[in-house]
Amino acid sequence: MRALVKTRPGPGLELIDVPEPVPGPMDVKIRVLRAGLCGTDLHLEGWDDWAASVVRTPLVVGHEFYGEVVEVGEDVTNISPGQRASGEGHIVCNTCRNCRAGRRHLCINTQGIGVNRDGAFADFVVLPATNVWVQPDDLDPDLGAVFDPLGNATHTALSFPMAGEDVVVTGAGPIGVMAVALARHVGARYIAVTDMSDYRLSLAKAAGADITINPASANLGVAMRDLGMKEGFDIGLEMSGAPSAVADMLDHMNHGGRVAMLGLPKDPFPINWGKVITHMITIKGIYGREMYDTWYAMSSMLSTSPRLREAVTSVITHRVPAENWQDAFAAARSGEVGKVIMDWS
Ligand code: NAD
Ligand code: ZN
Repeated sequence: MRALVKTRPGPGLELIDVPEPVPGPMDVKIRVLRAGLCGTDLHLEGWDDWAASVVRTPLVVGHEFYGEVVEVGEDVTNISPGQRASGEGHIVCNTCRNCRAGRRHLCINTQGIGVNRDGAFADFVVLPATNVWVQPDDLDPDLGAVFDPLGNATHTALSFPMAGEDVVVTGAGPIGVMAVALARHVGARYIAVTDMSDYRLSLAKAAGADITINPASANLGVAMRDLGMKEGFDIGLEMSGAPSAVADMLDHMNHGGRVAMLGLPKDPFPINWGKVITHMITIKGIYGREMYDTWYAMSSMLSTSPRLREAVTSVITHRVPAENWQDAFAAARSGEVGKVIMDWS
């Protein structure tokens, strides 16, 4: 089969022929139809310190995907060939304290598909049956391929009740834009979004943002003034990983505000703890998706809301055949994109 492989330590990837993966008794083999590019894949391709510290070659990369089940292991009873599915890319140990308590997203031994084991930028991927999310037959394959990042957005957006609240999203990457769509869906009042890229701010606006701010020329105080807000934001969703974005957010939270942090900063950085304390702000870190409450919630919301489906799909700006994977990576690196999808069908 074709696969996009990190064949040896160092920058680059190669599209080569490799043997098809073989499912174990509890595994499912999926023919990949679509796969989404994520910042993680760019780190792996570029081979930064993080990539060098986690990857053992050879490795098939990629973890955002949608496809068709073609084979199930002999002990798998709830999934059948022919079904369409997306996959949860975090494989948990089932033995640590949190796993045994049913809190699988808090597993201390999480392994990532396409990072610690072979992934989905390939004609076929094998994963445990428990990680397979069977999709309705009529789901748009492109939408099926963004369930992983949509799950990040959903996990973050549903961390705190949002109905009637004023929400700020820092960072309008694909996940920030999807978080805007979700905040609109669950009933936020005002949604303000910041990003350095006007292109990405326009995607956020299309997904339902009331006001967008480019920190090069303004801060969230301007958003509050233009929206007629007097007291500060109730909910913050941090989706940039940028220290200055966190500072601007914390400066404009209401007393008792709640902040969910998804963006991964490159390095440790200081924040205004005096503000957090005197404003009694709650800060919650978010990693991955809750297994499988997040998956249930996003599937349910999408199934009943054409508007949400449209807003989430609008984040997909580039569709590239797998053979042209270099174009897909170049587009993703340019920053003038939403989500880039590779077509493996
Ligand atoms: P992305 O890199 O495409 O988007 C980040 C956006 O933040 C970019 O559009 C960038 O222009 C913007 N930004 C940079 N500096 C900013 C600033 N000072 N103010 C406002 N915006 C600024 O990433 P994504 O795929 O949308 O993911 C969002 C973040 O979440 C990234 O940091 C990513 O690493 C992280 N992430 C975390 C998890 C998790 O489980 N915690 C999972 C996936 C991604
Ligand atoms: Zn565990």
